[in-house]
Amino acid sequence: MAKLSIKNLDKHYEDGFHAVKNFTLDIDDKEFIVFVGPSGCGKSTTLRMIAGLEDISKGDISIDDTIVNYVPPKERNIAMVFQNYALYPHMTVYDNMAFGLKLRKVPKEIIKEKVIQAAEILGLSELLKRKPKELSGGQRQRVALGRAMVRDPKVFLLDEPLSNLDAKLRVQMRREILKLHQRLGATFIYVTHDQTEAMTMATRIVIMKDGKIQQVGTPKEVYENP
Ligand code: ADP
Ligand code: ADP
Repeated sequence: MAKLSIKNLDKHYEDGFHAVKNFTLDIDDKEFIVFVGPSGCGKSTTLRMIAGLEDISKGDISIDDTIVNYVPPKERNIAMVFQNYALYPHMTVYDNMAFGLKLRKVPKEIIKEKVIQAAEILGLSELLKRKPKELSGGQRQRVALGRAMVRDPKVFLLDEPLSNLDAKLRVQMRREILKLHQRLGATFIYVTHDQTEAMTMATRIVIMKDGKIQQVGTPKEVYENP
């Protein structure tokens, strides 16, 4: 549950490349925002700035009316899920999901409760002792979602989470992610280059081009007014 306000956000990379230009967007509590646009248009950079994984060059990011520009990623109440899952290969599913909470010194019993609950929701209960290499692509992506879930984030950022999956699984996972959004009541920002994904999942679509917002609207508005 969080409102996000992004004001006049700019990103100049060290080499001078201007990747994000004057990006301004207000996101309501519990929205499912989808960023779409061609490769290289600045979707990922914007997401990483929201997560605090990338310095911002100019502008402000606020969560529930507090500016978080200088708040470290761990304290932002934001979780990010990546396209390549970024799981620890030597750890079990259980430990992959528990790791972030262990780092934060959350008591073991609470970690266990959260991991087991997330595993149930994601259909991973039977797989907790496996290593990532013993899982399918869809199962790995569920573990990545689980690892984000156990932290009870207010904001979920997902960077092309389904692009490594085959078409059939992608459709199934879309539904699962939407269910998760309903169930968690968190604000989701989802990056994709897949128009269908954007149209079927978003409460609002943000179309980006060359680092700028080109259009913002509900799927219906974007479809009727391309
Ligand atoms: P998208 O997610 O839309 O594909 P990105 O945000 O990843 O786009 O990248 C936007 C632009 O910024 C691209 O042209 C990319 O090459 C450039 N870029 C990304 N990371 C860096 C970096 N560390 N240094 C310089 N340029 C970068
Ligand atoms: P650790 O000793 O690593 O701090 P625990 O004593 O909680 O963690 O658990 C020992 C190992 O057993 C963990 O590393 C984890 O892989 C596994 N484990 C713990 N609880 C469960 C569970 N409910 N289901 C499956 N595996 C579990």
